[in-house]
Amino acid sequence: MSTPAKIYLKSRHCGPALGRHPWVFSDVIEKIDGEPKDGDEVKVFGEGKFIATGFFNSKSQIRIRLLAWEDRSLDESFFAEKIKAAYELRKQIGLVKADAAYRFIYSEGDGLSGLVADRFGDYLVLQITSLALYERRHMIAKILEKIAEPKGIFLKAEKNISTAEGLSSEDEILFGKVPEAAVEVAENDIRFEVNFLHGQKTGFYCDQRDNRKAAAALVKGKKVLDLYSYTGAFAMNFAKAGAKEIIAVDSSKGAIEQAQKNAKLNGISNIDFQVNDAFDWLKENADKKFDLIVLDPPRFAPSRGAKEKALRTYFKINEEALKAISPGGYLVTCSCSGQISREDFAFMLAGVARRSKRFVQVLEQRGQAADHPVLTACPETDYLKTFICRVL
Ligand code: SAH
Repeated sequence: MSTPAKIYLKSRHCGPALGRHPWVFSDVIEKIDGEPKDGDEVKVFGEGKFIATGFFNSKSQIRIRLLAWEDRSLDESFFAEKIKAAYELRKQIGLVKADAAYRFIYSEGDGLSGLVADRFGDYLVLQITSLALYERRHMIAKILEKIAEPKGIFLKAEKNISTAEGLSSEDEILFGKVPEAAVEVAENDIRFEVNFLHGQKTGFYCDQRDNRKAAAALVKGKKVLDLYSYTGAFAMNFAKAGAKEIIAVDSSKGAIEQAQKNAKLNGISNIDFQVNDAFDWLKENADKKFDLIVLDPPRFAPSRGAKEKALRTYFKINEEALKAISPGGYLVTCSCSGQISREDFAFMLAGVARRSKRFVQVLEQRGQAADHPVLTACPETDYLKTFICRVL
């Protein structure tokens, strides 16, 4: 292998890299010594010293993804160490069981920027958002095969990110077999079918596991609305916890069909599933009032530039939802945009309360479950905000 290129950062812009933030953007690069190809390993220097080893990609906004703050090779043994450490955590927090659904590797949170792996029963579903890791996907699959002993490893392409990073947008089976039909998993003692071929992202959102339980503790005998329900996970937790009336809404017909199958699988028959746009649904049902509403919209801010517009959309949907909450009811409001901080989200909510002339009490500021660890160096990894509020 040829000697890795040396990349020098502008002297007053080394803070994040020195502080172990894994992303180096193009505008902080001073000079490149060598001719790195996209996906190559590079050595990063700044303020007169070596900082870290990472992967280069001229096509990506994130020009270098840093993986090791040592002068070492990012080879198979490096990846094996990281993957083993990730698995150890999931074992320690009690998630490693048959039929479980959990995040096996959470990208930056596990020191592997650009790699997400979810475990669903016997299978692993990967999403790769870095060209270098994509080029090394077979090596990564080999390590996962040894450590996790799955029956199959499936790579699910993320179309828009693939284009941004210049990598293939084809799904691929990396190991074993991947079933055409859905795989059954259990979460909070509720059974779900996960269809990773046709579902969104990896097929199921494990990050809200503990929040579903926390919200469910408030719903006994209550009338509740699960907006942006996907395959019904919040609604099902509410049904199990004894909610009296449940409506679940999502704009995806496929998601609602899967949600209906999930309800049946658990013998649940009191959820009214509806396919509709969340805003339209609230408008068309302005006469209805609820004791609790969950708002778990998709990422409104997918990139660094989209923050202000996203905050306006969060404002509007929260404002509309508040109108439908009876005094003394609850709002469980979420944002999964890494670009929106907790402070931004709290500020948005304060504005909504003021405009709506309601008294909003934040009872809990929750985040993603522990299988999505937040990296202190990278605030963007604290991506899920789930605020449980009482509304007077
Ligand atoms: N609450 C879900 C996850 C929600 S993900 C869970 O716990 O599993 C966001 C969901 O919003 C997706 O299912 C997507 O289909 C849906 N969605 C996107 N835009 C929407 C819209 N305008 N109205 C309603 N649902 C929408």
